[in-house]
Amino acid sequence: MDEYSELLNLYKDYAIFSSINNVLSYDMQCFMPNKGNEVRGNQMSMLAGMSYDKISNPRIGELIQELEKADKKVKLHEKQKRNVYLIKREYDKAVKIPKEFVIEKAKQNVQAFNTWREAKQTNNWSIFAPELQKNVELAQQESKYIDPSKHPYDVAIDNFEPGMTKEEIARIFTDLKAELIQLLTKIKTKKAPNTDCLFSLVAIETQKKWSKTIAQLLGYQLGDRGRIDEAEHPFTDGFNHNDVRITTHYYEKDYTNALYSTAHESGHGIYEQNLPEEEEFTPIGVAASMAIHESQSRFFENIISRSRAFWEANIQKFENFPESDIDEFIHAINLVTPSKIRIEADEVTYCLHIILRFEIEKGLMEGSMKVEDLPAIWNNKMKEYLGVTVENDTEGVLQDVHWSGGSFGYFPSYALGNIISGQILHTIQKEFSIVEAIEKGELSKVKEWLTQNLYSKGSLYDPFELVKVVTGEELTSKYYINYLTEKYTELYRL
Ligand code: ZN
Repeated sequence: MDEYSELLNLYKDYAIFSSINNVLSYDMQCFMPNKGNEVRGNQMSMLAGMSYDKISNPRIGELIQELEKADKKVKLHEKQKRNVYLIKREYDKAVKIPKEFVIEKAKQNVQAFNTWREAKQTNNWSIFAPELQKNVELAQQESKYIDPSKHPYDVAIDNFEPGMTKEEIARIFTDLKAELIQLLTKIKTKKAPNTDCLFSLVAIETQKKWSKTIAQLLGYQLGDRGRIDEAEHPFTDGFNHNDVRITTHYYEKDYTNALYSTAHESGHGIYEQNLPEEEEFTPIGVAASMAIHESQSRFFENIISRSRAFWEANIQKFENFPESDIDEFIHAINLVTPSKIRIEADEVTYCLHIILRFEIEKGLMEGSMKVEDLPAIWNNKMKEYLGVTVENDTEGVLQDVHWSGGSFGYFPSYALGNIISGQILHTIQKEFSIVEAIEKGELSKVKEWLTQNLYSKGSLYDPFELVKVVTGEELTSKYYINYLTEKYTELYRL
């Protein structure tokens, strides 16, 4: 076997292992009884150790070294070079971290996740705080192992968005924040729409049918390639392109909640289902980054599913949908109002939730903020940025799952994803009108465009290079701002 094939085979072993870990994590979040915590912690940490052995295998190091020699490198084509580069990046990172640490971290993160779930349900910050403290220390330690010369938060961000830094994010966020606050201020002077039509009582069984309807309309494949389950914090997991699962959460008195979390996760699912099949279990075969992923979920959730065209064309496909005036309904689902919960936030205020988390994560990772002070810091920032008063920690600092699972540096990807979704929208519109496609019942044209121009590229490029390849421009928030301004000027008659 030649060196390249041997390297890819070793990597494939590792990638399959990682997918097993995802199955366990999926089960933990959707089906596992609470008392399964301990055994699941043991299972996942054992797998983390085995997975570590796969990616840090010294043979991988030897093969990379061989393939990087000039005479061998020249024989590789571009995709092969990219795969070698990506494996090297992952290998180099892995070998810097001791195995015992990987196992300890995996175990602690499961423990913290389960404690968080209980803390959120019972509004009990004090049981979660010590677990979070341990998670922060482990994340700091991990950054130190990977690159002690860099700011620990930069190392953490790089795990989700290769090439991105906290300075660059801060620069983008500063512009975005000013624009959003300006738009929000204008909207606040206008009368808020009546949202009564969103709160009719709808049986969960009916909502489950609607979830399937919206997922399929958007282009997520159910049947033998996908399924929808329930989770406290909806998410998507792709084990390979033929087994991509999405989750949602149903509330009897708030049917659009499930509808939009399903639309959001469908966007993630569509991306996963349409990654390049021929690159399965290679580093190129996966999503380019969390921000690119989020650009797809937000694109389908907001740009498509909250549009007038989408509902005018499709409302009759939702059986027994509550009767309401379509104008009122469209305005209601696009209500702009500062709220406490990020995942329920509207498009105008959403990024402000992220900016708050970005600042806190940075503080935690560099040690300028203490875990014990988080509830107060959180509540103060919510007041300052969004003008809302947080009454308890369940709807405050305990609302998100990320830190409990040890993910620090992930939050900025959400806002970056929004920005990218606007930039992609602008690019597609240069070729055809999305509204027209929806009106003609040709929404699949959008998925086809995205598959051809974005999904099929997998991780062929680093995320912000990919944005440039797809849109022809560097990352810029101007198109996202334009999209919001245009949409809300019309809705609110600004
Ligand atoms: Zn998402």
